[in-house]
Amino acid sequence: MFPHLRNHHRLLSIAFALSLLLASLSTATAQKRQTEKSEIPTVGDPISAALSLGSSIINSATGLIQSDPYSQFRGERYTTAGLLSERDEIKLGNQLDVEIRKKSEITTEGQERVNRIGNRVARASLRPNMVYRFHIIRDREVNAYSAPGGHVYITTALLAMANDDELASVLSHEIGHVVARHSLKTIQQSQFLGGIADLIGSVTGVAGQEAGEIGKAAASIVAGGLLASHNREEEREADFLGVNGMVRAGFNPQGMITMFQKIQRVSQTNPDLLGSLFSDHPDVQERIANTRYEINRLRGRGQS
Ligand SMILES: [Zn+2]
Repeated sequence: MFPHLRNHHRLLSIAFALSLLLASLSTATAQKRQTEKSEIPTVGDPISAALSLGSSIINSATGLIQSDPYSQFRGERYTTAGLLSERDEIKLGNQLDVEIRKKSEITTEGQERVNRIGNRVARASLRPNMVYRFHIIRDREVNAYSAPGGHVYITTALLAMANDDELASVLSHEIGHVVARHSLKTIQQSQFLGGIADLIGSVTGVAGQEAGEIGKAAASIVAGGLLASHNREEEREADFLGVNGMVRAGFNPQGMITMFQKIQRVSQTNPDLLGSLFSDHPDVQERIANTRYEINRLRGRGQS
């Protein structure tokens, strides 16, 4: 949800990863930049919104007519087309999890709460049959991210500041990234996977040279911060999937808005605790407005 690359400095000491990284990352970021360029502003444009009233709604907070910020995601069906099979995605995710665990202090403090809320929103997601695993990382920074194959990570700092609805919004958002296979797409586009896709398909155990190669690639992916690298469109999609998932699971979607507001307050009082979060994501006001739009829309549908 809050991608940033705090562990970079420590992790980049894995020197061998560097040369591999630079070439692959530049490809990935170039592709992301291209996607962002084509984005159309969705808020604060009442004229164009008024012209498309069919998919518009009056924002209760601003009183302005807002066009549907999520129109491109509605009715989307998520499949493995063009991507690794689910079985191989899970294998890759497990390798990434091994590498993340090497770099992080994992704790079970709060595990029961995270599992309970996480599994509730996971079952209400558009990928309900995946086995999701929720990992808690002891860290003073406020952060959450996910890996292919259903691994979701959340820091103790975020956990401490979130009530149950807010926690549901974070976990539902991260599950949204897994549903839409955002990290898997980023990894496949980065060419990290090019040479090892076949290996992943053929590896049955953990021993041997092939597994070793996959481990090296997984280490590079983690070190390169690829799992926390989402463009704005992917964030918007995860927000959309997240807020709808948490409503289906019976949580109060206001929790997503208050979570954004808490994050914003931290950014004003303790920006170091958010790392580069807001340099990556200066659009929190837009995300709040989009979430309000969706809540109004869901309310309207409930009444009709
Ligand atoms: Zn996110």
